[in-house]
Amino acid sequence: MALSADVAVVGAGLVGAVAALGLARKGYSVVVAEQRKPEIQRGRLGMDIRNIALSPASQALLDRLDVWRSVSRAAPYKRMHVWEERGTKGMDFRATSVGRVELGWILEQSLLVTLLWQRLEEEPCIELMLGASLIGIRPDNHVVRLVTDQDEVETKMLIGADGARSAVREMLGVHAEVVDTGHHALASVVRTEVAHENVAYQRFLLSGPLALLPGVDPNLSSVVWSQPPEDAARRRNMSEAQFCEELAESLDHRLGAVEAVDERNVFPLQQMLVRSFNPHPRVLLIGDAARVLHPLAGLGVNLGFEDVRDVLDQLHHPGSYDPGADGLWRRFARRRRARSQMLIGLMTAFRRVYAASDPLLQWARNAGVGWLDNATGIKAQLIREALGLGSVAERL
Ligand SMILES: Cc1cc2nc3c(=O)[nH]c(=O)nc-3n(C[C@H](O)[C@H](O)[C@H](O)COP(=O)(O)OP(=O)(O)OC[C@H]3O[C@@H](n4cnc5c(N)ncnc54)[C@H](O)[C@@H]3O)c2cc1C
Repeated sequence: MALSADVAVVGAGLVGAVAALGLARKGYSVVVAEQRKPEIQRGRLGMDIRNIALSPASQALLDRLDVWRSVSRAAPYKRMHVWEERGTKGMDFRATSVGRVELGWILEQSLLVTLLWQRLEEEPCIELMLGASLIGIRPDNHVVRLVTDQDEVETKMLIGADGARSAVREMLGVHAEVVDTGHHALASVVRTEVAHENVAYQRFLLSGPLALLPGVDPNLSSVVWSQPPEDAARRRNMSEAQFCEELAESLDHRLGAVEAVDERNVFPLQQMLVRSFNPHPRVLLIGDAARVLHPLAGLGVNLGFEDVRDVLDQLHHPGSYDPGADGLWRRFARRRRARSQMLIGLMTAFRRVYAASDPLLQWARNAGVGWLDNATGIKAQLIREALGLGSVAERL
């Protein structure tokens, strides 16, 4: 059977689902091909183990699509404290210093993606193709044909949002540069003795960054601990009591004892960037299909949502308008790649500077951190950029 639509979106994780919803709201007919329907995940401590820090710019996109008002269990974080293993100085980033109530929100990933799916299912312009396996993609001057084991889809434009191991990217032979970070991330949820008070913590250990993100429950936080693969394996397999003790120690006991830990999951971490976000006039790659960042930035979903916002801003309402017209996406592709490249470079530099144990570099780092913590104007600008609200973020 052959289906036809203005746009086909392959992959409906957070980024693909938001893209499909946004396109449908603009009046485009959309076919969404996804391997599996998401389900709500809740661990032993009552919280999803996979959590994401969502920026105000991403929240604004969800609001624009009328999704934000239905988001449940969003935990605002109002301050971020950053410090390092060998340093004497730390940095505080406060929402109030840029006139905001919060820096962002910590969201349980499965709650957000299942909410987005409810909306996809209600949307009359969206056709969901669940469980279909992609067999081939044939773009030409007028249409793109998507061949799956269920249906064939003919569309004016194809959006690949099928994650880091994107089949769309592979099938079109798009080159992607992959850089191994030398880290695996250990992710879990912990209960701490002292309440987090909506503060996010990031400590740069010599072996890698450790992040603690506050949950809705005042004593639950999600942990993302980036570290060499052998340390991650050892910490996944050690007893719960031993893990809690090592974690509390690594956090300088900022939240007192770590009383319990949920299931510990380990993910290999690579950074990746495609050569082009627009490998054919009628094809776009967005989200993790186009680039993957080290999670120390907490930016993956936020950058994917920026891709979607820029796609929606660029598109006019359908009709005689061709969303795959030659040259239409060239500027988009250039800007999105430049921003990703800049952030990947920044993350690499951060990790190298903080992993260095050279005493002179340590001194310089401490002096720099101390200076920056007192340089309120520069710090406020850095916060705006990190929230996606600064002038650099808007220009790129
Ligand atoms: C430990 C960790 C912590 C993180 N923390 C943060 C954070 O705090 N903030 C943040 O912004 N980001 C964070 N990230 C990054 C973030 O999780 C990703 O950037 C984000 O999930 C990417 O979303 P996506 O929709 O592009 O891809 P995915 O979430 O990978 O979704 C891709 C979708 O495509 C589907 N799919 C795949 N292949 C096919 C196919 N052939 N046909 C049909 N469907 C297909 C999949 O089933 C999936 O639903 C973190 C990542 C890790 C590993």
